[in-house]
Amino acid sequence: MIDSPNTKLSLIVPVFFEQEVIKQFIKEVIEELVFLALSYEIVFVDDGSQDNTVNLIKEEAIKNEHIKLLELSYNHGKQAAVTAGISYASGDYMLYMDPDLQDPPKEIKKFIDEIEKGYDLVFGVRKEKKDSFKNKIFSKIFWSVLDKYTGLNLPRGLAVMRIFNKDFAERFLMYNEQNRFIEGLFMHVGMNQSVIEIEQRPRFAGVSKFNFKRKMNLAFDAIFDFSELPLKLAVKFGVFLIFFGGIALFLILIIKLFFVDFQSGWPSIFGFLILSLGIQLFFIGLLAIYTGRIYKESKSRPLFSIKEKTNI
Ligand code: UDP
Ligand code: MG
Repeated sequence: MIDSPNTKLSLIVPVFFEQEVIKQFIKEVIEELVFLALSYEIVFVDDGSQDNTVNLIKEEAIKNEHIKLLELSYNHGKQAAVTAGISYASGDYMLYMDPDLQDPPKEIKKFIDEIEKGYDLVFGVRKEKKDSFKNKIFSKIFWSVLDKYTGLNLPRGLAVMRIFNKDFAERFLMYNEQNRFIEGLFMHVGMNQSVIEIEQRPRFAGVSKFNFKRKMNLAFDAIFDFSELPLKLAVKFGVFLIFFGGIALFLILIIKLFFVDFQSGWPSIFGFLILSLGIQLFFIGLLAIYTGRIYKESKSRPLFSIKEKTNI
């Protein structure tokens, strides 16, 4: 357990339409923090919820000044919300968790014990993933693609819960990029990392905000932010086509001159035309994706805009 009584833990919790879980989350978490006799703050970051989430948090914040709330002006996405939370948290250790109680508050102690050993970042991984079959398959593909092409070497079965120290947080905040795949950034900051296994529960209530499309977007973010492979692929494929096309042309010429006097057919020309157009469009599209991302970075807008603060 924490040796120095002055050590403070900041919980960083992004919330987006979480009215069904928020009360229960606060109850369970505070029970645990009080039990552990920790000095703490809970920094909620509301990512533009339109339901009762903000009011429920404010009700609790009146009773308990350790409960703090940042309200983003509109839905920025979870990555930006977490970043906002980290920049306003004041603890020596920061623990990032979701309010849906999938990662149980009971596990907080394990994280503290582990980081107290002198690590800068401790990731939680799920002992066993409680998820639908489709989601499991999707995660499997996602992580193996990521491993293969980005070289990030993220731990498998990553849970949301993770703890890091102030030093780590400061370095993390130096990453100003707009397109942010948080897990990738965490790995990129590096420092001394450790992994612990934690229990999982199903979502306490409410629904997941990440449907298949949002998850796909996240996967694309990860690949385009941490890999130049698609760009290199374009070059490789281009070289292959030039080579292949050259040989084919040469062969056709030889056959036409010395062996068969065939009429070049419309269908084949048409086919090749479409094929090559398709290939060109595909790679122009890839370039466009990167260009778009460069454009976004080049504007270097602030990562988030805060509407209101409570207890901060
Ligand atoms: N979230 C957010 N902004 C969004 C979408 C989600 O801050 O645009 C938060 C959400 O409130 C939750 C966390 O991100 O705290 C993870 O979402 P969820 O539990 O729905 O996803 P899952 O665990 O199913 O991946
Ligand atoms: Mg969740």
